[in-house]
Amino acid sequence: MSAGRDKRIVVAIDGPAGAGKSTVAQRLAQALGYVLLDTGAIYRAVALAAVRAGTAWEDELGVAALTEALTARAGLRLESAPEIGGKGVRVWLDGEDVSTAIRTPHISLGASIVSSVPRVRAALLDLQRALGAEGGVVAEGRDIGTVVFPRAEVKFFLTASVAIRSERRYEELAASGQLTDFDQVRSDVELRDRRDSERAVAPLRQAADAILIDSSAREVDAIVSELKDAVLRWSG
Ligand code: C5P
Repeated sequence: MSAGRDKRIVVAIDGPAGAGKSTVAQRLAQALGYVLLDTGAIYRAVALAAVRAGTAWEDELGVAALTEALTARAGLRLESAPEIGGKGVRVWLDGEDVSTAIRTPHISLGASIVSSVPRVRAALLDLQRALGAEGGVVAEGRDIGTVVFPRAEVKFFLTASVAIRSERRYEELAASGQLTDFDQVRSDVELRDRRDSERAVAPLRQAADAILIDSSAREVDAIVSELKDAVLRWSG
């Protein structure tokens, strides 16, 4: 297969919370001149939309209807914005910039609840696929290589131990001024892992053709360069 270096492909990065996906995906996208598609932000925005509408996250029918209405009116938009720091992704919910509001531990849990509803996932598929349709995308999430872009040219599954992932999440929250207790962060991470892995639809799992990377004891630079080499090997 000779794709040529100018071929802009879809790179899928899946893995549990705190495995370093965000940093790695962001840096890889930058190194390749690709756009970062942060699919978690989409589920976070739905969780926030439910709060705003007074719909409980556990109300599956309510959340499904709300998500379908939201996508039908194109109320959810993602925009690349490196200048805002963090993920470098600006998220618009019905014209309101919710980029900061979706990054709280409360909304993380909400996202993991609403994302287990099959109709919610189905309603968000087209949006995600449209955002990756042109290629030149590093898409980050839980089911990118298995469901959203099963034909992505290069797939990675990034993981790390629960202890390391909890530490990273704790530091991330502390850095953004959200003081919290380490044990609480660790139990939130474990709860999200369980929900993401055990749900019936599109559970978190490694695609058969994904490259497994354990980031527990590795520097970000080394991981990014390994991923970049793998992508260039494919497209070169
Ligand atoms: O990646 P992030 O932590 O922002 O994702 C928030 C939540 O959204 C995850 O815990 C997961 O439940 C859900 N999610 C998902 N599928 C994706 C991306 C995120 O179910 N592709």
